[in-house]
Amino acid sequence: MTADSKPIFEKLALIGIGLIGSSIAHACRRAGLAAHIAGYARREETLTEARAAGFADSLTTDLAEVVKDADLVILCTPVGSFGDIAREIAPHLKSGVILSDVGSVKGAVVRDVGPHVPAGGHLIPAHPVAGTEQSGPSAGFAELFDGRWCILTPPPGTDAAALETLSEFWRRCGSDVEVMDPKHHDLVLAITSHVPHLIAYNIVGTAADLETVTESEVIKFSAGGFRDFTRIAASDPTMWRDVFLNNREAVLEMLGRFNEDLNILQRAIRWGDGDTLFNLFTRTRAIRRGVVSAGQESAEPNFGRNRAKDEKES
Ligand code: NAP
Repeated sequence: MTADSKPIFEKLALIGIGLIGSSIAHACRRAGLAAHIAGYARREETLTEARAAGFADSLTTDLAEVVKDADLVILCTPVGSFGDIAREIAPHLKSGVILSDVGSVKGAVVRDVGPHVPAGGHLIPAHPVAGTEQSGPSAGFAELFDGRWCILTPPPGTDAAALETLSEFWRRCGSDVEVMDPKHHDLVLAITSHVPHLIAYNIVGTAADLETVTESEVIKFSAGGFRDFTRIAASDPTMWRDVFLNNREAVLEMLGRFNEDLNILQRAIRWGDGDTLFNLFTRTRAIRRGVVSAGQESAEPNFGRNRAKDEKES
C-alpha cells in the first residue's frame, strides 16, 4: 500500500447526505480516504435512499451516534441548520476532531459553529465550489469535485497539521485547494455564484408572471437564453434561502453594483448608444474564453449539451 492509498481517517461522519454529502462519500470511497463512512439525515426516507445508493458504512438519524469516535465531521446540511447541529454534537465530539462543513457561505459558519467547538477540536470551514441543481442522496457522484476548487477558510491560529490533513483530504477527493479569509470568500462568491442565482430566480419569476406572453410560449422558445436560467433557478429552495440570509452584506454590496451597471445598459439602449453595448459584450466574451481555458466549463457549442437528447426532452 502506498502512502497515497492509505486512509487518512478511521471514521468520517457526514451530517447531511444529499448531493454534496453523498458525493464526498463516493469520492472518499474512490480514493480510500476513510476506513468507515457514517452518514446522518433527519428522515428515515433519506436513509433508505442512501442505503440504496450504497455509499456509507453506517447510517443513522442520531447525531450523537454519527459523530461518535469520528476523526473528521463534515456538516453537509443547509447553512441555517449549522448552529443548532454544532450545539447538539459538541458534547459527543472526539478530542482532536476536525470539524468542517461545505456551506456556500463562510463568515456565518465561523459565527454560528465557532462557539460550540470543544477544546482540542479544530474548526476548519470549507466550500467545495462544485455542484449541480440536483438534490438528495441519489444525486451524488464521485467525480463531482474533480478539477474544481475547494476553498478552506481556517480561523486565525488554526493548527497547521489539521489544516494540511483536511487539504490533503480534499486534494484526494479530486479538488484543487485554496485557503482564503471567510469575509473575502463571501464577497467573491457573492458575485460568482450568489448574485447569478438571484438573477436566475428573478428572471424566471418575472417570465412566469407575464400576462402578455403565455407560459407555453416561454417554455416553447426557451432556447433563446431563458433555458440556461431555468437550470440555475431549479436549485434547492432551502439551501438558497439560507445562502442569501447568511451572506446578506456581500450580496447587497454586489447587487448595488449590478444595479448601477444595469442602469448604464438601460440608458445605452434608450439613447441608441451601440458602442457602450458592443464594448461590454466584447469584454464579457473574453471573460467566457478565460473561464473555458481555466478548465471550469466546456468549450463545446451549446454548453456541451447533447442536442439530440435536449430536443427529445423539450
Ligand atoms: P441536499 O441535497 O438538499 O441535502 C441536504 C441534506 O441535509 C439531506 O441529507 C437532508 O436530509 C439533510 N437536511 C436538510 N435540512 C436539514 C436540517 N435542518 N437539519 C439536519 N439535516 C438536514 O443539499 P446539498 O445540495 O447537498 O447542500 C448541502 C450543503 O452544501 C449546503 O450547505 C450548501 O450550501 C452546500 N453546497 C451546495 C452546493 C450545490 O450545488 N448544491 C455546492 C456547494 C456547497 P433530511 O431532510 O432527511 O434531513
